Amino acid sequence: MSNKTIPYKIYLEESEMPRAWYNLRADMVNKPAPLLDPVTHKPMTQEDLSGVFCDELIRQELDETNAYIEIPQEIRDFYRMYRPAPLVRAYCLEKKLQTPAKIYYKFEGNNTSGSHKLNSAIAQAYYAKKQGLKGVTTETGAGQWGTALAMACSYFDLDCKVFMVKCSYEQKPHRREVMRTYGASVTPSPSAETEVGRKIRAEFPDTNGSLGCAISEAVEMASKTDGYRYVLGSVLNQVMLHQSIIGLETMAAMDKYDIKPDVIIGCAGGGSNLGGLIAPFMGRKIKGELDCKFIAVEPVSCPSFTRGTYAYDYCDTGMICPLSKMYTMGSSFIPAATHAGGLRYHGMNSTLSQLYDDKLMEAVAVKQTEVFAAAEYFARIEGTLPAPESSHAIKVAIDEALKCKETGEEKTILFGLTGTGYFDMMSYEKFHNGVMQDYIPTDEELSAAIAKLPKIEK
Ligand SMILES: *Cc1c(COP(=O)(O)O)cnc(C)c1O
Repeated sequence: MSNKTIPYKIYLEESEMPRAWYNLRADMVNKPAPLLDPVTHKPMTQEDLSGVFCDELIRQELDETNAYIEIPQEIRDFYRMYRPAPLVRAYCLEKKLQTPAKIYYKFEGNNTSGSHKLNSAIAQAYYAKKQGLKGVTTETGAGQWGTALAMACSYFDLDCKVFMVKCSYEQKPHRREVMRTYGASVTPSPSAETEVGRKIRAEFPDTNGSLGCAISEAVEMASKTDGYRYVLGSVLNQVMLHQSIIGLETMAAMDKYDIKPDVIIGCAGGGSNLGGLIAPFMGRKIKGELDCKFIAVEPVSCPSFTRGTYAYDYCDTGMICPLSKMYTMGSSFIPAATHAGGLRYHGMNSTLSQLYDDKLMEAVAVKQTEVFAAAEYFARIEGTLPAPESSHAIKVAIDEALKCKETGEEKTILFGLTGTGYFDMMSYEKFHNGVMQDYIPTDEELSAAIAKLPKIEK
């Protein structure tokens, strides 16, 4: 067992739950590029960001030096209600595939919100409350983040205002009602409540909405309302930091049984679950203590890593958020309406973008019909009904296990099972009825959005 550096061990509770998050940036040689002001193109400071974001969260966003950041006791108390999350050996799947590979997955779907997003929602709500704020605003696409934030806000008695992408608002009434059950107010986006929403509605009356647009609305609302700040469920480095609890728990369990992963796989939307799962393992890889392959899995319909450009881009359609250097499709890119499998965000977390650019991580893009086939296969064999997003990772984990069957290699494969699919049955229905389509954007579509990237002077 590689016992050289197990610094996180001093940060474990008796329950083996981490007492500190791990900040991978502290151990990276090439740090991710700083956030820039969308107008002046100067690096954003604590002060610049404080009108929109919570103070302590900005400190975490800008922190590239502290490897471990203590998790406040109040947050740990909440985590205890549903963590540690199970690390499961997929014995039935291994047997069915007749693979010599060992397959493990870390399951984050065991809380009511149904995904890993609660790990960051509770932290963000805590810091907002501690700052004495009245409430927070946010956007949600498929609804998992909005649900998680609604739960977290009700726990800390904070007001929660969610802008939900219009097509999801209409297609997922149950998600909406869960959020309202936890006391959140939910508005379809684009709405008439913000300037940016009104502008987009005037320009595109038939729009189904997009994540980028909902973000702009939530940011505008937060910056114009006293006692409110904006919170985001993915993409930012603070979110990846909170999600490192996934990787730390996994590492603690694997170390205990002397298991070393050869391949770690995660789905990538904005990158938070993947970043959180791989963070401590990547830290070891960077220090030369672990030889492991990391694979990001994305949809072919929104392929930020595999067909995107590494450049500064807007995080939102309204171009009011800071600029982030990332693998991006361009902030004006909107995935085809036929895309039902989640992971629709145009950009990617800046830390993961840097790791990918440094070739420390690989990426593959998969078709949604393959993803749903893998989801169904998995559900029938392992029991758990997976979220479509998570099923991207399942698809590639199965592919890797089948490769081992050919070569006879006994690799240890670990993947992140980020959530359950209970609220995604409309997408499953499309798949079962044979009407699900795969859409691969053309090069022309991609270059049209890339042409609109902001021009940053070097
Ligand atoms: C939001 C979500 C994702 C994608 O977000 P990341 O920030 O890339 O992790 C993946 N799986 C589930 C279940 C989600 O809710």
